[in-house]
Amino acid sequence: MHTGRGDAAKRARTRALIPVSADSSDAGCGFCVGDDFERFSQVDDVFSRSRFDPEIHSDKADRFYSTYRRPLADWRAAKGFQQNDYAFRNATWHVADVFAEMYEDDDRRDGFLDPLSMLREGATERHEMGTPERAAQLLKHAAAAAGADLVGVTAYDHRWTYTERFSVQTGGAKPNDLPEDLDNVIVIGQAMDSTLIDTAPSALSGAATGMGYSHDAVVLLTLAQYIRNLGYQAIPSMNDTALAIPYAIKAGLGEYGKHGLVITPEFGTSVRFGKIFTDLPLVHDHPIRFGVKEMCEICNACSKGCPSKAIPDAAPSTDRHNKSNLVGVKKWSIDGEKCFNYWSKINSDCSVCVRVCPYTRDYTRRRNRAWQRLAASPLRRLALWIDRRQGGGERHQTEDWWPAG
Ligand code: SF4
Ligand code: SF4
Repeated sequence: MHTGRGDAAKRARTRALIPVSADSSDAGCGFCVGDDFERFSQVDDVFSRSRFDPEIHSDKADRFYSTYRRPLADWRAAKGFQQNDYAFRNATWHVADVFAEMYEDDDRRDGFLDPLSMLREGATERHEMGTPERAAQLLKHAAAAAGADLVGVTAYDHRWTYTERFSVQTGGAKPNDLPEDLDNVIVIGQAMDSTLIDTAPSALSGAATGMGYSHDAVVLLTLAQYIRNLGYQAIPSMNDTALAIPYAIKAGLGEYGKHGLVITPEFGTSVRFGKIFTDLPLVHDHPIRFGVKEMCEICNACSKGCPSKAIPDAAPSTDRHNKSNLVGVKKWSIDGEKCFNYWSKINSDCSVCVRVCPYTRDYTRRRNRAWQRLAASPLRRLALWIDRRQGGGERHQTEDWWPAG
């Protein structure tokens, strides 16, 4: 059974052959940021808008959120949406939810609208960590032991910091304060369970997302506390404070795909990202290219598979579907309103685009590592054909995920 994490040494082999770019500029990362770029406000995020904006807020949206609190037997009659599926999905969110709800009275949602804050005071004296190269080596070693599946480091970039946070209490904006001297960003990747993703769309597949967030919270808090204990600042962040995708790409964790997600060499799309803002001096990683852009130009599996038609099969552009898209960045963009409306309709998150992406496969297996090399070569059409012949992206039955009685 492939749960996404597998053998770390075998996974590392998928990355070993990928050339690392020395170019960490926007061009090197594949970013195309225009002069008309505007920083994003988290108030315009589709999840914030789903709470107050009549364009997207509805009774269905309220019911969608309530399913995360009441795993009742009759949300939907369909397989994969039974009480047992919801009961497990909601349990996987539990750790992330504990932190999110801890300071709700103070208008905070830690990890989603505000940084994780359940941390002790750190040391008053700074530990000498050696060179930035040595410090990064120690940090990555500790991160792996703490449960991080991927770790990269890059420079802080003000463009990706939200102009403002979303306040649940007012339904409007609140300040997004971040100290100015945090020059480095550590990006953490947590693999999601691919056997659960294989059942998407279902309430059961939402358990992969929930575990991703809960793992992320634990790893980010552990690492942030480690850095604070060394005498440096560390602010752990999940969906709050800044966009994660540009940092994940710049820190060399993966490439951007047509479905608006990062594709990593180790887990494909089946991964979640968190980040830590810090003043610990660390050497930076560099972006990687392993043929994703070229593959997305000939593949439309996510666009075809998306139940809400939220992923256009079109060339990158600066066009916006609605206010939840970035201004002034030429890229593939999805229609978050259509996506969220579909989630509200089925009473769970979806992840079909993660399931059908040919890069979502078990890279602890030699044949899949060979597939990735083929996908990075001029023979990528053959790689795509092989993926479909092998039944890549097919939906698995939720009743097959639970053990037979
Ligand atoms: S999560 Fe589902 S609805 Fe949303 S973009 Fe992906 S496939 Fe489409
Ligand atoms: S499904 Fe195909 S087009 Fe979509 S992100 Fe994956 S490789 Fe790119």
